[in-house]
Amino acid sequence: MILEHYIDGAHVPSISGDTFTSLEPATNRPYLTVSAGHAEDVAAAVAAARKAFGDGPWPHMPAGERAATLRAIAAAIETRDERLAALECRDTGLPITQARGQARRAAQNFRFFADVITTLGEDVYRVGSAQLNYVLRKPVGVAGLITPWNTPFMLATWKLAPALAAGCPVVLKPAEWSPLSAGLLPEIMEEAGLPPGVFNLVHGIGEEAGAALVEHPDVPVISFTGESATGRVIMRAAACHLKTLSMELGGKSPLIVFDDADLERALDAAVFGVFSLNGERCTASSRVLVHAPIYAEFTARLAERAAQVRVGVPDDPATELGALIHPDHYAQVSEYVRIGVEQGARLAAGGTRPAHLPEGNYLSATVFADVTPDMRVFQEEIFGPVVCVTPFGSESEAVELANATRYGLAAYVWTSDLRRAHRMAQAVESGMVWVNSQNVRDLRTPFGGVKASGLGREGGRHSIDVYTAAHIVHLATEDLPVPRFGTA
Ligand code: NAD
Repeated sequence: MILEHYIDGAHVPSISGDTFTSLEPATNRPYLTVSAGHAEDVAAAVAAARKAFGDGPWPHMPAGERAATLRAIAAAIETRDERLAALECRDTGLPITQARGQARRAAQNFRFFADVITTLGEDVYRVGSAQLNYVLRKPVGVAGLITPWNTPFMLATWKLAPALAAGCPVVLKPAEWSPLSAGLLPEIMEEAGLPPGVFNLVHGIGEEAGAALVEHPDVPVISFTGESATGRVIMRAAACHLKTLSMELGGKSPLIVFDDADLERALDAAVFGVFSLNGERCTASSRVLVHAPIYAEFTARLAERAAQVRVGVPDDPATELGALIHPDHYAQVSEYVRIGVEQGARLAAGGTRPAHLPEGNYLSATVFADVTPDMRVFQEEIFGPVVCVTPFGSESEAVELANATRYGLAAYVWTSDLRRAHRMAQAVESGMVWVNSQNVRDLRTPFGGVKASGLGREGGRHSIDVYTAAHIVHLATEDLPVPRFGTA
């Protein structure tokens, strides 16, 4: 069987007939053939979406009706909860227990944006009694959605739900390393009654299908999640069309532990923050900065806990850390382990393939201690189960270290000093900071990064802003003076 594109309500192969193969991370055996889209397939999908935008009912429907369809999509996802989790587990190597959470979150995304769109008001400005200015939020047109391979279904719905809620038809291009779960979307959308052409799906390699979507003149907005380097390429390509871009990019987020923190909870958060989701998580706390008085003890305990993280096959409910997505990515993460050792970091835990898993992309939970900011493992996003631990002496040194990378997505601060918590939270250069908390999110809250971690914010109203344009009507309610030219 071939996993095909879905264009204008129909499953279709690539016009060229080209396909690519997907590997199963647990074994690296090929198990899925996928249509490889090119510019002509993207053009067909954009044409269908453009037609749905111009002629179709979707952009013009009352928000309540669109919301009813979004809720039906959520329900259709929920009925497929187990199947989705199983597909995600097989396709990405995520432990099954963590893949289950992703399916639930995906359904929540649709319910949430159904609520947002039905409760959203539009602004009115009164200019004395002379003028009334009102703002209409209009869908911008066809939205191009490009998603990464980590937690692919959940991240796709994080874009799909607001784009559809705003009234935009979409073309989704999922990542080529994890295309499987997106293949469920057509039946979900059909079951929910979404009109044909509103949801379109084109599989393919990023540099081909993704690039064609970015370069298509009839796609005014691109919402992209992926690597910072890809973000740069996309920005360059989008510049000639002056597209709206929303960019959720890479991270190297610090978790900062002061000696007055609740150390048990901070330790739990440090372990979970970098080893959950296989460490393939944009907001992973991949740098742990530890106050000097507790550095030796905290680092030793972190290494001890890492050594006990259960690495195993993804479909075993006991597994905490599964298989990394692809042999190329596994090689890259393993290369960082080698670089860390070569540059003088102390390997305190892991760094090797677990002996009981001779095939597949498995790496033990890895802890590097005594890491200095000049080391590549401190600076570069590894996107795997590898954490770097660095000591700091003072609060100002903690801030300096936290900000010493080009990324700025998330940060986590652990302290029981309220004033210090606020000072740190405000001094750290990151889009988001959690204080005495792991990464718990409310969908209303803005999400996004600064520096190389992104552009713009998604979440709640911010997502709706991405997919709508403000259309402002200035209406005179009195005879405003009009300067008279040409009357002399
Ligand atoms: P990637 O940049 O390699 O690929 C992301 C998507 O872009 C894929 O669909 C890919 O096919 C496509 N793509 C690649 N080249 C393209 C091009 N030239 N034009 C258009 N599209 C192109 O990223 P990845 O390796 O799939 O994902 C991991 C990265 O994503 C990490 O850096 C991670 O931090 C980041 N990420 C960020 C967030 C966030 O919210 N900030 C969330 C998840 C992942």
